[in-house]
Amino acid sequence: MSALDNLPVVVIGAGPVGLAAAAHLHERGIAFTVLEAGDTAGAAVRQWGHVRVFSPWRYNIDPAARRILEDAGWVAPDADALPTGGELVAGYLQPLAELPALKHHLRYGARVEAISRLGLDRLRTAGRETTPFLIRLADGEELLARAVIDASGTWGIPNVLGASGLPARGEADVAAYREHALPDVLGQARDRFAGRHTLVVGAGHSAANTLLSLAELAGSTPGTEVTWAIRSASPSRTYGGGDADALPARGALGSRLRAHVDAGRIRLLTGFSVQALTPAGDRVSVAVRHTAGGEEAITVDRIVAATGFRPDHSITAELRLDLDPVMGATRALAPLIDPNEHSCGTVPPHGVDELAHPETGYYAVGMKSYGRAPTFLMATGYEQVRSVVAALAGDWQAARDVQLDLPETGVCNSNPDDSATGDSCCGSTSATEPTGRGLATGISGGLLAAPLGLVTLDAAPADAATGGCCGS
Ligand SMILES: Cc1cc2nc3c(=O)[nH]c(=O)nc-3n(C[C@H](O)[C@H](O)[C@H](O)COP(=O)(O)OP(=O)(O)OC[C@H]3O[C@@H](n4cnc5c(N)ncnc54)[C@H](O)[C@@H]3O)c2cc1C
Repeated sequence: MSALDNLPVVVIGAGPVGLAAAAHLHERGIAFTVLEAGDTAGAAVRQWGHVRVFSPWRYNIDPAARRILEDAGWVAPDADALPTGGELVAGYLQPLAELPALKHHLRYGARVEAISRLGLDRLRTAGRETTPFLIRLADGEELLARAVIDASGTWGIPNVLGASGLPARGEADVAAYREHALPDVLGQARDRFAGRHTLVVGAGHSAANTLLSLAELAGSTPGTEVTWAIRSASPSRTYGGGDADALPARGALGSRLRAHVDAGRIRLLTGFSVQALTPAGDRVSVAVRHTAGGEEAITVDRIVAATGFRPDHSITAELRLDLDPVMGATRALAPLIDPNEHSCGTVPPHGVDELAHPETGYYAVGMKSYGRAPTFLMATGYEQVRSVVAALAGDWQAARDVQLDLPETGVCNSNPDDSATGDSCCGSTSATEPTGRGLATGISGGLLAAPLGLVTLDAAPADAATGGCCGS
């Protein structure tokens, strides 16, 4: 009997993937506790609750969660409908979190600040694998665990505005003017944007979504001005393929964005990077540099940072993690999801083996497991936690039998940080044989408002590298 045997598995985060892990742990009869920093289940998803997702319900429900929900009389939403983030919480995450099987193991307002091994710092090896994890919460409380499933996502750590990955000069001084990605421009955040000048930074679909909302607001509220700054020389990737786009809804909305730019309703700055930010009265002055040379200063009221997200590895600083130096994912997973190598975000099935670190018993799953790669899907996370929990149960056959069905799309890469892949949607050639397709995180349903077809990823689809923007 080891010191670990009577301890629970601790799951960090009650988002879609953390709750799915809880459902699998419940089914396997493994004791668990879920620690959630927010006040509710799906706290991060609620923050983009006004955005419609692009994968229909059938891909958004974890199989174990579905089983225990249906046993309790829950009726699944229309499999082909595309929920908003708010509907995802109200129709699925909240009911799941309220099931007695999960509810009594969920703690809200429990922010994990650090994870270590009881009595062992990172240097100490002897007895490490049989020593409990020590989890410290922000209020100082400490818990012990036999294993940790870290599903804390990346939503809380937006990328900086500065082009070099470091904050632009003065960025910290203008936090009051800076908006997180995807503000609810036409809803509860309307007053912050109406009649004001907003700068949107980023070339991904999050940026496009916000720009379209701002353009709509400008049409009804005089004095609303919109400027859009991207690092690449052309906005073509954000526009998509117009009438020729493999996904008509995306093409149409990309065309709408282009029409606003062409008509001058949105001022586009290409080849620009943010250098410095300075408060200027109740506004902010943004110094931007053109890659071709030359700087200019723009004075705006709000800045929307649609520049992507990064994982918070600081909470695991005392653990032995083997992270890929580029992606911040495990070394085994990184090449499978690296947008520098994979023009179409190819994602083969993967599970416990690809997620394991030298620190036995610690697994980052879900959005966090992808590090800075932008092509995560809930369905991928559900398969990750099924595999990890099977391994924790000692069922290695199930753990290694990884399967993955992803919604098909032509989206190669909607990395909100357009520096990662350069200008071209399909510009780089994959060094690795693609075995499937991924979708990009942060795409709003507004841009892909059509249900997506099914691709089974247990083998390389013949057209894996040719779909959508990669092939047509
Ligand atoms: C706008 C948008 C649209 C998307 N659309 C789709 C889509 O259509 N289809 C799709 O499959 N995927 C989509 N995604 C990608 C992804 O599936 C979602 O981001 C999903 O919410 C990720 O789930 P998660 O559980 O890994 O992380 P999250 O949902 O981010 O959940 C993490 C949870 O951990 C909590 N937490 C964070 N830090 C701590 C801490 N230190 N201690 C305790 N708790 C903590 C947070 O409060 C949060 O509740 C989209 C993402 C965005 C942003």
